[in-house]
Amino acid sequence: MSAPQPDENAATSLLIANIGELFTADPETGIMNDAAIVTEGDRIAWIGLNAEAPQADARLDAGGRAVIPGFVDSHSHLVFAGDRHAEFAARMSGEPYTGGGIRTTVAATRMASDERLRATAARLTAEMLRQGTTTVEIKSGYGLTVADESRSLRIAGEFTAETTYLGAHTVPAGADPDEYTALACGPMLEACAPHAKWADVFCERGAFDGDQARAVLTASAKAGLGLRVHANQLTAGPGVRLAVELGAASADHCTHLTYADVDALANGDTVATLLPGAEFSTRSPYPDARRLIDAGATVALATDCNPGSSFTSSMAFCIALAVREMHMTPAEALTAATAGGAQALRRADIGRLVVGARADLAVLDAPSHVHLAYRPGTPLIETVVHDGTATR
Ligand SMILES: [Zn+2]
Repeated sequence: MSAPQPDENAATSLLIANIGELFTADPETGIMNDAAIVTEGDRIAWIGLNAEAPQADARLDAGGRAVIPGFVDSHSHLVFAGDRHAEFAARMSGEPYTGGGIRTTVAATRMASDERLRATAARLTAEMLRQGTTTVEIKSGYGLTVADESRSLRIAGEFTAETTYLGAHTVPAGADPDEYTALACGPMLEACAPHAKWADVFCERGAFDGDQARAVLTASAKAGLGLRVHANQLTAGPGVRLAVELGAASADHCTHLTYADVDALANGDTVATLLPGAEFSTRSPYPDARRLIDAGATVALATDCNPGSSFTSSMAFCIALAVREMHMTPAEALTAATAGGAQALRRADIGRLVVGARADLAVLDAPSHVHLAYRPGTPLIETVVHDGTATR
């Protein structure tokens, strides 16, 4: 008999048996002990007690370990060239982060071949998968010309369906801010929209102000794109309230919030996506996650993986930061990194382990999800199941 073809393989069922702790990230089911899961093709077909598990074509013994949903990294910038370790070293020696370093990456990205950009994105998405991330959002934003933004999105689309047009990342050197905003709302958007699911704007002092951000977001919504906003990272600007007003799926960073911002997030449908890797790497104060959670806002955690302000692909590291530095419980942090990320992408099929959801999960080399924060920096992801197939 010949070896099974990939599509035949995906159609088979897999029993993941002897799960000591099953963290479903589903509010109704919560955590189950002595559990099992059966996947059928790329979906979860059955969840229940290990003793009652049905047979399947293949079997994976979790040996009493914990199983969690695959991480949903809802914010990353993986299409880039170059390296900014010297800027990081300078910052750690006391220079403040202003966001100006984006232009360094823009210059390197424009010079790079498609092959080189593709190789970097491939390496980072593989690195993410090994660490348990089964869904990643990828933004453009280091091209800042019509041609470079659209090629960034074409390359991003080779790695994920969650592609985001971020032509309004920064005003390129020498350009007039209003003229550039008009480009980002017009010809650049037109060239990028076919390759993007989302649009995003860096609404910040020194990047795009409230009016410019509104113009880009409104034009993008008209072009059929969903909205996300880099909001309130460095200052308490208008980004968060604009995101909520325009019905954006997510307001990202949320580091400097007013009472009105917290109220808006608590009462709207916009997820507050926290990116503690950025605060870690820029030695900045962390967002007040407790205030958001206690007010009733939905919180997501993501890596913001980029070569300047947060060069990590590790969701486990972000969870550890969220617990240690932002006072989230381990369960809150893991829920934010899975179900929260899914909600920030408006996806009901990922981020939770429930029947019918995509079969994306990770087996930890640990008895409990708490180990993700309790043993920071430890490679705890033992096996990743993505689309019903065990990847390692
Ligand atoms: Zn970002």
